[in-house]
Amino acid sequence: MYQPVCGMQAPPTFNSFPGYEGLVPGVSGGFLPPPPVQPLPSPTPTTQPDWSIPNLSEESAREAFISFASSQCCYSSDPAKDGVITGMEQFNTYRYRLETFTESRKTEWATKPYEGQTMNPFAQPPPGAWEMPVMAPVMFKDNRQELEIPNSQSVKPCETCSASGRIQCKTCAGAGSTTCSSCSGQDSGEERCASCNGTGQKNCSNCSGQGTKECETCKGKRQLLSYIKLTVEWKNNVQDFVVEQSSGLNVTKLGEVSGKPLFKDTQPMVYPLNGFPHPALVEASNKMVLEHRNKYSQTGRILHQQQSVELIPITKVAYRWKEKPYFYFVYGTESKVKAEDYPATCCCVIL
Ligand SMILES: [Zn+2]
Ligand SMILES: [Zn+2]
Ligand SMILES: [Zn+2]
Repeated sequence: MYQPVCGMQAPPTFNSFPGYEGLVPGVSGGFLPPPPVQPLPSPTPTTQPDWSIPNLSEESAREAFISFASSQCCYSSDPAKDGVITGMEQFNTYRYRLETFTESRKTEWATKPYEGQTMNPFAQPPPGAWEMPVMAPVMFKDNRQELEIPNSQSVKPCETCSASGRIQCKTCAGAGSTTCSSCSGQDSGEERCASCNGTGQKNCSNCSGQGTKECETCKGKRQLLSYIKLTVEWKNNVQDFVVEQSSGLNVTKLGEVSGKPLFKDTQPMVYPLNGFPHPALVEASNKMVLEHRNKYSQTGRILHQQQSVELIPITKVAYRWKEKPYFYFVYGTESKVKAEDYPATCCCVIL
């Protein structure tokens, strides 16, 4: 049933391309280390930022609290409206954020149905993965692109169908017909089965009675184009450091809010913060910049980095309601409220 394919090119030995020797068919190639890293940047003078933040007024604290209470299902807003504010304490803190935008490239052998493309047997060796021109990425946005490495292509017979373009139908095992389901093939002869006309057999619906189906691998083309597939991946790697504060508000809460931007620095490679008045931030910046540079230059190329400092407002508000003390937090430029001991969490109950 096989039909010989004439003029087939011999499949290449897979390790025949310089730079791609380690690439094994069927095995993902993994990430390729990029060419040497750029020289380290030198410090840029940072301008002294304005890092004052106006204290939250009692009025704003109350407004935020009332809108919080009314947004909670079933909370009575009475404590928020009538509670007496007895104290406000600031716990403003800093968030340092480092973003490292990387490009990584990996290669692997891939195949697709051969559509009759002309092959040039005298072609140049394929270009290296990092020599391939790729699309210009949008900075700090994740993305990916897949490309065919030129001159890596060759034609080989499809192994799935032994280059016949068709494979045996699984439903009927190649017979082209199946047992009639209406009479289970047990037609008595007395009353002819209408479904199979008394034959006990029906045409296989999966292969339309042919016994074979088009090969999925080569889509009936009998031959496959084998090539090296290049996958380029852009990724923005973000890491935050928040200076510890003693308000009692959980640090993870701060991930939900934004702060007042104090400083932003975008460079091909940033130099750690210097001259910043908060030592914990300077220390974190030095550590993170070094870590990112070591980590992300192993498997890819660092295209750009960005570092920023934000001041996150946190105010702890103490208040009394019905002669009892309570407190809540107002935090972030969004004035988000956290009130763990809110005294009237169900408006249906008269307190
Ligand atoms: Zn069939
Ligand atoms: Zn039948
Ligand atoms: Zn095939």
